[in-house]
Amino acid sequence: MLALLGAMLLSQAAFSAESAGVATPGEDWPHSADISKRNLTAKDFPRWQQLERNVYAYEGLHSPDKQGVIVNTVSLIVITGEGVVVVDGQGDVPQTQAMIENIKKLTDEPIKYVVIASDHIDHVGGNAAFRQAYPNVVFIGSPASKRRLEKDPNPPTMLVSEQRSLRLGAAQIEILNLGRAHTGGDLVAWMPQVGVLFLGEIYLRDVFPAMRSAYPTEWLATIRKAVYLNPNWYIPGHGFIDEPAIMRRELDEARQALIYVMNEAKRLKAAGYACESAANCPAAEHANWGPYADWALRSSQAPLAIARVYLELDGKLPET
Ligand SMILES: [Zn+2]
Repeated sequence: MLALLGAMLLSQAAFSAESAGVATPGEDWPHSADISKRNLTAKDFPRWQQLERNVYAYEGLHSPDKQGVIVNTVSLIVITGEGVVVVDGQGDVPQTQAMIENIKKLTDEPIKYVVIASDHIDHVGGNAAFRQAYPNVVFIGSPASKRRLEKDPNPPTMLVSEQRSLRLGAAQIEILNLGRAHTGGDLVAWMPQVGVLFLGEIYLRDVFPAMRSAYPTEWLATIRKAVYLNPNWYIPGHGFIDEPAIMRRELDEARQALIYVMNEAKRLKAAGYACESAANCPAAEHANWGPYADWALRSSQAPLAIARVYLELDGKLPET
């Protein structure tokens, strides 16, 4: 971990320099992970793209709000030569089975490890399919995720408190706990040889900040640590995957959205608007979400975010 932190500090300046200097192609770009905003329908999924040699980003679907907005759910697939590593599954068994069938088109190698970067249902709900297809598959997760998945038939058995190196075939995958963010048990997968950083739900691209179980202030610190790794590819848990420069810029945008939402919740609280829970949140009606009003899932996520920031302001966030 010490060597890692050293490397982080060396590249500390990278993010601000990059984000200030990057041109902004497509200013009219719809800032929404809603698949319909790119003229896609559920029939266009699942789909996947190769990021680097033997490294793929796979996209299934997730539809969490009442309006029926559909966003993607991203999994990372790494073919190592001695087995496949998947980081984050899909939300249900049929979708995860479909992913397994698609992986079989890429390689004969069995899936050996599944890393739980996000323990939320839309990323672990299909994990039984991995076990069914590969009885010896090992689930990797944080101690916090193990606690949360206590009743799940496939909890993580290989635990990562800080860092664990997976060296399999030609691949080096560093499983890192960079701090709490979206779930509280957040892990990332870092591939230094190819510059791929899978952030899972630490990075929600063009999705309204989803804070149901988040640690808002720590989330910002966790993003900062991720940026110190200075990857080429930042891969989100939800949201489209475009070229690396765009993904880098959009991570900064997601960070700014978090700050905006935290500040807005702070303002609402100071103004005396109540938000006891997402279901009982009059404050939401008085919110001004500015540039983030159109981001995907805003209507379902905004009251959750206000309630969570209020908890943090009151010093009542749960320990785990
Ligand atoms: Zn999710």
